[in-house]
Amino acid sequence: MDALPGLPFDNSYAKLPERFYARLAPTPVAAPRLVKLNEALALRLGLDPQALASAEGVEMLAGNRVAPGSEPIALAYAGHQFGNFVPQLGDGRAILLGEVVDRDGRRRDIQLKGSGPTPFSRNGDGRAAVGPVLREYIVSEAMAALGVPTTRSLAAVTTGEPIWRDGELPGAVLTRVASSHVRVGTFQFFAARRDTEALRLLAEHVIARHYPEAREAAEPYRALFEAVIARQASLVAQWLLVGFIHGVMNTDNCSIAGETIDYGPCAFMDAYNPETVFSSIDQQGRYAYAHQPGIAHWNLARFGETLLPLLADDSDKALAIANEALGTFRDRYVGALTGGLRRKLGLFTEEAGDSALAQDLLNAMTDGLADFTLTFRRLGDAAADPAADAEVRRLFANKPDSFDVWLPRWRERLAREPQDGASRRAAMHAANPLYIPRNHRVELALAAAAEREDYGPFEELLAVLAKPFEERPEFAAYAEPAPADQGVYRTFCGT
Ligand code: AMP
Ligand code: MG
Repeated sequence: MDALPGLPFDNSYAKLPERFYARLAPTPVAAPRLVKLNEALALRLGLDPQALASAEGVEMLAGNRVAPGSEPIALAYAGHQFGNFVPQLGDGRAILLGEVVDRDGRRRDIQLKGSGPTPFSRNGDGRAAVGPVLREYIVSEAMAALGVPTTRSLAAVTTGEPIWRDGELPGAVLTRVASSHVRVGTFQFFAARRDTEALRLLAEHVIARHYPEAREAAEPYRALFEAVIARQASLVAQWLLVGFIHGVMNTDNCSIAGETIDYGPCAFMDAYNPETVFSSIDQQGRYAYAHQPGIAHWNLARFGETLLPLLADDSDKALAIANEALGTFRDRYVGALTGGLRRKLGLFTEEAGDSALAQDLLNAMTDGLADFTLTFRRLGDAAADPAADAEVRRLFANKPDSFDVWLPRWRERLAREPQDGASRRAAMHAANPLYIPRNHRVELALAAAAEREDYGPFEELLAVLAKPFEERPEFAAYAEPAPADQGVYRTFCGT
């Protein structure tokens, strides 16, 4: 084949023992068509966008060709799904093509998702529909632009093949880029098999790749656990600060590198309500907005269990170490959340009452059915000009007096800081996005693509979300929540 220039694969996971994965190539598809290439990301990865967009490049992105240097594998993992342990899950519809080292020297997985069945597919077809593929593309890129650690989307291709879900849908393949695809569930896979040697190899792989500082620590595996706890605590705080609901925080969707991964039924909240759930399969609200920190902690406890044989020879001692490490989660999470809420409120200094001030605003938002994103954004305008207070107040239509009670407390707090209104507004606008992937906008973009092969709305939405903090008058409508008559929004698992 013609060489695919600029694909400098440098694989490390495929060098691990064979029981870590299954070796297999993607299953070719009938008629690959590139519908989106993330050129900026390609360049950061040291890849040549033109080569990727060429006929050979698209064949690779569709899984029809295996590029030189690629060692395609489907990764083995287990996981707790909604609290129930499944000893074998694995990449049922994804194949890791290989790793590249990006321009910043960071190793990145290049994975195809929707690339055909694997030995881990169970009853699934190994495929993905164009809607969920574009959904992951939109939301993961939006998260990246918001500054939240996340897997990225490099490309989307349609396959020219129908797949069957509730009805017939166009098939597609997403090229996903991740710091790695190691999950809590990867450790659980080996722990469930009492394969301590594999656990050690996996832990060493992860330390070398993500947490090299742990290698220097007196107890490297404890340091690894604490580092993962720190990243997950920070991650989940960032989710809450932008109103993101992951929707399916199973341990197999909990990244050891601390990135948001697996955009299935995720969605952003409009009106602030801590009990918000979008996913149709989350009947109990296990993964509701405000439950996410508790679930992250629970997932990390499952991770700690897998590390017990590595933490100490004596099992009581190992348990004590794990529990001590797990105990650091709360302070880290609360610290990250409080710091983030201060930034959202435009506070430059720290006072003991700040958390309560933030919480009381959130409570008022719940009572008022106020839009989470717009409340903080408009509050930035109010910081510079009290004439804008009315714009914020209008968002609390259901109960504006709860905002009226809160507002003077915030003003008193601001008065104890020297910053002027303009610099406060600038700081608040840098912390509070104006544009998030509003559910109705995402749905419109997906429907146009899936039903009419019209990618215009998808492209425009991506352009809006690429600069979420920068107000652009031509995109004013994208800042608005769904019209009230749209009803309750539901998401479905990304299959
Ligand atoms: P998820 O809910 O996307 O995290 O997936 C949970 C598990 O189901 C993983 O092992 C996936 O690989 C697998 N899976 C999801 N969809 C499919 C599919 N269409 N074909 C095969 N396996 C799938
Ligand atoms: Mg998953």
